[in-house]
Amino acid sequence: MFGSGVVSANEPGQPPIDGGAWSSALPTPGVALAIGAHPDDVEFGAGGTLATWASNGCTVHHLVCTDGSKGTWDVNADLPALVARRRDEQRDASRRLSGERAGEVRFLGAVDGELEPSVGHRIEIVRAIRELRPDVVLGHDPWKRYRLHPDHRAAGLLTCDAIVAARDPHFFPGVGPAHHRPAHLLLFEADEPDHVEDVTGSVERKLDALHAHESQFESTMHAADAAELDAFDQRITERLRELGGPHGVELAEVFKRISDL
Ligand SMILES: [Zn+2]
Repeated sequence: MFGSGVVSANEPGQPPIDGGAWSSALPTPGVALAIGAHPDDVEFGAGGTLATWASNGCTVHHLVCTDGSKGTWDVNADLPALVARRRDEQRDASRRLSGERAGEVRFLGAVDGELEPSVGHRIEIVRAIRELRPDVVLGHDPWKRYRLHPDHRAAGLLTCDAIVAARDPHFFPGVGPAHHRPAHLLLFEADEPDHVEDVTGSVERKLDALHAHESQFESTMHAADAAELDAFDQRITERLRELGGPHGVELAEVFKRISDL
């Protein structure tokens, strides 16, 4: 099931020569932690996969790095109210995605647009990994080329750096109960995806969770009315269909998979 071109973070030196093989369908983890830059990023990047796992018994936790305070086109917006609303929307999205398997929703609270891969933020993500003890961590690919939004890069770097620190006991001793090593890291919006998950049975829950982010209908989803929201749903579904086709899957999300962490 897993190709031989697996990237192992524990193997120093030269890369494998037979990279490029795709893997599919990780075993359902007991616990997953999904880390996004903004409220809604995780639903876009991995919502179908998380909903599928939750329906199979996986507890799904969320960590959102920024406060989402730039997420409006309204120049007169009440920004503290927007931040509070977006936190509520993210909690609602988590429940829509994972139902009774919805876990914690944590917020780092960095200012939207100004997230830095700082040691302080890294420590908070290390704490989350050590406390929540996920088998799989999901996050942005920080090496996605030509991506303009700095928060997505920073959130991806923080995710990778926090895994390196969380797994070993001498990094930040005293942060969290004990060191913890997840089994897999899945990077969404990946520059070079090599792993596919079948989300045919969970696309409705992915879309329902995206719809929880009502404050983003106008700006992110270009869905100012019901007809446009329906068109948004069709665009998302069509993209998942395009991704699944080459793998013989009706609807799919794809990732860069890093295992043997
Ligand atoms: Zn984002």
